[in-house]
Amino acid sequence: MSDDQTVYDEWGIPTVVNAAGTKTRIGGSLIRPEALDAMREAAGSFVDVADLQARASELIASITGAEAGYVTSGAAAGLELAAAAAIAGHDVGVMDDLPATEGVADEIVMPRTHRTGYDHALRAAGATIVDVGTNDPHLGTGATNVEPWELERAITDDTAAVAYVQKSYISPPLADVAEIAHAEDVPVIVDAAAEVPPLENLSTFVEAGADVVVFSGGKGIRGPQTTGIVAGRQEYVESIAVQHLDMHVPAALWDPPRSLVDPDNFDGVPRQGIGRPMKVGKEEIAGLLRALELFVEEDQAALREQWNRTARSMAEGLREVGLDVEFEPADGTNRAPVVVATVDQATHGLSARELVAALRREDPRVYVGADRAPDGEIVLNPMCLQDGEAEYVVDRIGSNLQ
Ligand SMILES: *Cc1c(COP(=O)(O)O)cnc(C)c1O
Repeated sequence: MSDDQTVYDEWGIPTVVNAAGTKTRIGGSLIRPEALDAMREAAGSFVDVADLQARASELIASITGAEAGYVTSGAAAGLELAAAAAIAGHDVGVMDDLPATEGVADEIVMPRTHRTGYDHALRAAGATIVDVGTNDPHLGTGATNVEPWELERAITDDTAAVAYVQKSYISPPLADVAEIAHAEDVPVIVDAAAEVPPLENLSTFVEAGADVVVFSGGKGIRGPQTTGIVAGRQEYVESIAVQHLDMHVPAALWDPPRSLVDPDNFDGVPRQGIGRPMKVGKEEIAGLLRALELFVEEDQAALREQWNRTARSMAEGLREVGLDVEFEPADGTNRAPVVVATVDQATHGLSARELVAALRREDPRVYVGADRAPDGEIVLNPMCLQDGEAEYVVDRIGSNLQ
């Protein structure tokens, strides 16, 4: 932690030491310095934003193996735009109507177990979610989340897309869902917002049959917070681009980069579309592109090793202050290894929830993972900790225990 006065000091805003991982509410991740440099450089000239998006499409396509790509203001914005593309296709009139969907197929089919708060983004485009299957795979009856016939039956003439949320524990496999959807000529939209690293996941879901995949630019990739990546089929990226870019000009002047948008595919020049309120500036696009280039080159093994070291040192420190601690290695659910500490009211003088709250009142504040606090556990994630901060976290936890 430096002694330099920051804007947060100047404005009296307490900063946070982040042992909770990439969480939007506390700032996501720390942007790569090189991405900030790119943003500063990008800020120095005007540029046709469509040209920048066309270049982004090339880079995203080359990294993900998808036909095309696009930079959005986040993965959630990518979901909304993907839904808008699935509903409107290349129909300028339908684009103009969204989120009203009178007379067009507007249903998005999802396994019920894939519903999350983020599917609000799909509904915001005008989609109606049709969820299928059950939520009882743990009944012990051999029940599954969703059977192939349930998905098949839910896909009708009113279906615009199938949506799928990628998590390691999720079923059925994406490839199976894609096969069913494609047999009915319906695209699959995949939410993989937090699934990188590992790097391979940038291409895994495209290979498994996704038509559009969205990733956060501001989580593991460490681009600007307000960026997301769409990777997918050209026709959907093209529809996304015209519903997002501010393109409304006289037809004679409409001259978008052809690799992104071919005017011959449209009946006229689209007006400001449903994506316009989710605009992305030239600075954010430049920052995301630089961050993505660096993410691809990064020594993933070295990064994992660094997270392992930080997590193990925190585990050791917490044992020394009297907590029962478990080290959970990185797996499909945890992008990084995490340290799980059990807090016992009787022994430590406060509950896990109270400890989480007390840590948030420290200065600087300490945020730890609180998902398991109701079960008496706090979770420490090393991903977003800077030099020296792991020691501070352990020290503050220790000082709050009796
Ligand atoms: C973080 C997250 C999002 C939202 O991503 P943003 O880039 O913040 O818009 C959507 N879905 C899932 C599963 C996420 O983890």
